[in-house]
Amino acid sequence: MADLARYHRQMLLPRIGEAGQRRLAGSSVLLVGCGALGSVSADLLVRAGVGRLVLVDRDVVEPTNLQRQTLYTEADLGAPKAEAARRRLAAVNSGVRVEAHVADFTGDAADDLAEGPLGVLVDGTDNFETRLVLNDLAVSRGVPFVYAGVVGACGTTMTVVPGRTPCLRCLVDAPPPPGSTPTCDTAGVFGPTVVMAAAWQASEALRLLLGDAAPGGDLVEFDLWPPRVRRFDVRGSRRADCPCCVGRRFDYLRGVAATRTTTLCGRNAVQVLPRRNGGVDLPALAGRLGPHGAVAANEFLVRCELGAEPADGGGACSLTVFGDGRAIVSGTLRPERARAIYARYVGS
Ligand SMILES: [Zn+2]
Repeated sequence: MADLARYHRQMLLPRIGEAGQRRLAGSSVLLVGCGALGSVSADLLVRAGVGRLVLVDRDVVEPTNLQRQTLYTEADLGAPKAEAARRRLAAVNSGVRVEAHVADFTGDAADDLAEGPLGVLVDGTDNFETRLVLNDLAVSRGVPFVYAGVVGACGTTMTVVPGRTPCLRCLVDAPPPPGSTPTCDTAGVFGPTVVMAAAWQASEALRLLLGDAAPGGDLVEFDLWPPRVRRFDVRGSRRADCPCCVGRRFDYLRGVAATRTTTLCGRNAVQVLPRRNGGVDLPALAGRLGPHGAVAANEFLVRCELGAEPADGGGACSLTVFGDGRAIVSGTLRPERARAIYARYVGS
C-alpha cells in the first residue's frame, strides 16, 4: 500500500478517511479526451490518489489549447496529448498508474482501450459521437459514466448510473446533425467554465469510487457569463424505448452508427460521411468557419482553408463540406485526423 501521508488533508474529510483513501487507491478510471475538461479532471483524480487512470486522446497539443488545457505547457506543443498528459501526471503523483493511449475512441476500439476493471468512465471529449460510444460502453458493462460538455461560457454535466438513472441516449438519441450546433472550435470557450464543469465531473467520479450512493440523477447546466446555475432532476427521464439502456442495443459501440471515412488515395485526402442523413445548413456553417480560414461557398458546398493550425501533424489542410453533410478533408491520409477535424469544425 502506498504511503497515505500525502493525502492527509483529504482523509480529514469524514466521508473519505483512511478507509476511503485505500478504496480510491484500489480504483480504476477511464478518461476519454485529454483536452480542457480532461486536463482538469485528470489532475484532480491523480492528486486525489486513484489507483489507475487510463487516458485516451487522438489529438496533439496546439498553441490554441494552452488557454485552458492546464496539463500542458509550451514545451508540449506538437506532442500527443495523451502522452504529454501521462508525463505531467506521473510527475504530479508517481503513486498512480497512468496509462496513455494515442487513439481514436471509436466503437471498434473501445473495448480494447477500456481493458480491465473500471470504476467510472469520465467524458473529456468534445463530440457526441464519442460520448455515445462511452455511454454504450458504460451501460453494457454496468459502469457509471460522467458526461460533461462546454461551449462558450456554458457547461452541462450529467452522471449516468446504469440501472438507476437515464443514460445519455435517453436524452440524446443521436448526435446533432453536422454543422447544426456550435463547438468550441467555432464558438470559443471560456476557461473558468471548463474548470467548473471538470470540478463537477471529478467530484461525481470520486464520490462514485468512494461508494456514495447519491451521484447521478441531475442534469446541471451553468453559464458563467452572466453567472447562472440550473439543476434538473432527470431521474424520471428514462425513455421506455431507449435502444441502449432498455433495449440493450449498443449501436455506437458496435460501430453501426459511426461516422464513416474513406481515404482518397492519390489525393492526400479523406472523405468523411456523416453518421446520419439530414444535411447541413451551408450558409450558417460558412459563417462559423469564417474566423478559421479563407472560406469559399456556393449553393453546393463550403470550403475552408484551415492553414497549419489544426492538429494535422502540422500541415495545412482544407475542409470541404457538401450540403448532405459529406466532407472531404484534404492534406491528410489519416482517417482519425479527418474525423477529428470534422468533429471540431462541422460537429459530430
Ligand atoms: Zn437510455
